[in-house]
Amino acid sequence: MAQKQHTFIVEHLDPELEEWQSLEYKAIHRECQDSGAKFILSGLKDAGAVQKQLDLPIETLQEQSVEALYSTPEARSRVCLLDPKGERDIGPEDGDLFDVFLFGGILGDEPPRDRTGELRNKGFVGRRLGPEQMTTDTAARVTRIVVQQRKRLDEIEFIDRPDIELSLENGEGEGKQPGESVSMPFKYVKGEDGKPVMPEGMVRLLVDDMDKGIGDLL
Ligand code: SAM
Repeated sequence: MAQKQHTFIVEHLDPELEEWQSLEYKAIHRECQDSGAKFILSGLKDAGAVQKQLDLPIETLQEQSVEALYSTPEARSRVCLLDPKGERDIGPEDGDLFDVFLFGGILGDEPPRDRTGELRNKGFVGRRLGPEQMTTDTAARVTRIVVQQRKRLDEIEFIDRPDIELSLENGEGEGKQPGESVSMPFKYVKGEDGKPVMPEGMVRLLVDDMDKGIGDLL
């Protein structure tokens, strides 16, 4: 049986589109493309400007909010909000139940300020990815593994709150001494190389912004 095509929507909720988010959104788009899912970035102020910034296909960029895109109760019932305060954890069966998975386009904050509540209050059904906060791209990655690869959350290997080494070895940390690291207050999927999976270019950005104080930026 052919696999159902899911749609992954990120509703951009931050006032600006930071470089961190650009890398996250591009990673989500690429991974959706590779896995046959559809990606939409919604709630944008100016889709044309974002297209230039992200270099994504214009049809993936929407100025309408997800509320407008799924305006009837029937349409909304097909949408699952990934919600850290969801009553239930997501499972493979949710891939059959829902067509659309919705994420808050919000940079992580510590402690979390529950801005996902803005989407919860619009009446979308919520599912949790466990109790720890993930970045938006990690949340999309984990949801894809659960609903497309049909793995349960407890079958996925994670790394919680890793120290990311900013060394020459990883290719992006040029200029930093081996051994310098930054602690990330989020949970990541463990990659085949044993390291947390992060968007391409993220380590480079961490190096560039290290002096500004990472806690203020995420
Ligand atoms: N601090 C945040 C807040 O204010 O809600 C969490 C933002 S998180 C960086 C971005 C998005 O990833 C959330 O809006 C949610 O869709 C998804 N997400 C992250 N961790 C999650 C979890 N444990 N369970 C469900 N969704 C999660």
